[in-house]
Amino acid sequence: MQYDVMFIGAGPGGIFGAYELLQKRPEAKIAIFEMGNPLEKRKCPIDGKKVKSCLKCKSCAIMSGFGGAGAFSDGKYNITNQFGGTLYEHIGKEEAIDLMNYVDALNLQYGGAGTHLYSTADTKIKKLCVQNGLHLLEASVRHLGTDINYVVLENLYQYLSERVTFFFNTPVLGVEQTTDGYAVTTEQGTFTGKNCVISAGRSGSKWMETVCRDMNIPTKSNRVDIGVRVELPAEVFSHLTDELYESKIVYRTSKFEDLVRTFCMNPHGVVVNENTNGIITVNGHSFEDPAKHTDNTNFALLVAKHFSEPFHDSNGYGESIARLSNMLGGGVMVQRFGDLIRGRRSTQSRIDEGFITPTLTATPGDLSLVMPKRILDGIIEMIYALDKIAPGTANDDTLLYGVEVKFYNMEVAIDEHLETPHKGLFVIGDCSGVTHSLSHASASGVYVARYMAENYL
Ligand SMILES: Cc1cc2nc3c(=O)[nH]c(=O)nc-3n(C[C@H](O)[C@H](O)[C@H](O)COP(=O)(O)OP(=O)(O)OC[C@H]3O[C@@H](n4cnc5c(N)ncnc54)[C@H](O)[C@@H]3O)c2cc1C
Repeated sequence: MQYDVMFIGAGPGGIFGAYELLQKRPEAKIAIFEMGNPLEKRKCPIDGKKVKSCLKCKSCAIMSGFGGAGAFSDGKYNITNQFGGTLYEHIGKEEAIDLMNYVDALNLQYGGAGTHLYSTADTKIKKLCVQNGLHLLEASVRHLGTDINYVVLENLYQYLSERVTFFFNTPVLGVEQTTDGYAVTTEQGTFTGKNCVISAGRSGSKWMETVCRDMNIPTKSNRVDIGVRVELPAEVFSHLTDELYESKIVYRTSKFEDLVRTFCMNPHGVVVNENTNGIITVNGHSFEDPAKHTDNTNFALLVAKHFSEPFHDSNGYGESIARLSNMLGGGVMVQRFGDLIRGRRSTQSRIDEGFITPTLTATPGDLSLVMPKRILDGIIEMIYALDKIAPGTANDDTLLYGVEVKFYNMEVAIDEHLETPHKGLFVIGDCSGVTHSLSHASASGVYVARYMAENYL
């Protein structure tokens, strides 16, 4: 069977790419190869009781399978060019926003109707930030919530499964150019197609490196963001989260002039473990359903670290720091802000005596034994800066979970069509290094589908 288009990866890039292709070319023969499970079979064995730590499953249920890394996420679709990726550098700002709005409309059509769209336009919070040395980035944010995000994925799968051939539990081992297209090798055999779209996400980053090496596709190494997840009473940030839901606030540290930013804000949410290549890091999400709300809000504070020559392994650097926290804490570590400032470790009794009930069971410890001084200093400075616009942020009981790491894929050489130097071979979504978010990854899929439909099919 020769396919018209083979997608590698069933994350948002692959899903929206295949969807759009079907709108433009309903007769197209499409295959999607996915190393993880269908949505309903994605179950992480960690239950916090019998299984407390990662069993290193063959494919991680959190990161892999239909829906990709975002399947159990908070489902925040940020419609903006100010963060979430640099898709606009390839396709232009207007087109990028149009595509993100198009994806938003599809999310509503497939189960997200009624969810809230927040916006930073005309907010007074912008002024409050500027007056305190902080900078609020502009965006509209569709918050689907973990529960509705799942429903949207179920509905999209229902639509696609009747029209597309899915190969689940089928990691693609290699990609080769043939005389009339591409061949992908898997343990189940080799499959061929006229065009190939790689959308392997962050979990496929190491594999993507080998593909680029084997196919002589130039790459350049990228950055890594390292930080902590902050958890505090929801009231402290309620004036921001009620109006904006998610506020991306950036601060330049006075000491090192590093940029620290808030990331992935979850009002009334929960802090969760995340597994990246067997290393346990921290993340967070929240639910649309009020019945699932907690008393806390959590968000990440991340310091962006760019490396210069001769160092190339920015992700390796982030992994080493996360590994250190795993070594000391057996997983994620938690510390009260007051303990960090006093230079002492947190203990279970100090956490228990605090006024905040943690939403994640983590090992009380000392983050200063794990985080580089420069990064920790930046985080502490930012907490004091945030305290000016949200008093209570720098309270002793504020919880800091570490380590949160945001890995970036290396940047793959793709042109304005997101096409590699090999005609008909596209790299989209997070594995391209161009996107780092649901909306940008989804938009990149739609963009490539339209280009293929017009030019190659
Ligand atoms: C816990 C969590 C919460 C998040 N919350 C948000 C949020 O609220 N808002 C936001 O904008 N972003 C969020 N993100 C990031 C967002 O999920 C990603 O940016 C987005 O999923 C990227 O989409 P993608 O299609 O490029 O890749 P992915 O979603 O990573 O999908 C790639 C797929 O490819 C598969 N794959 C990899 N290699 C192979 C191979 N060799 N063969 C076959 N299949 C392969 C993987 O199994 C995976 O399913 C979150 C991420 C996580 C982990």
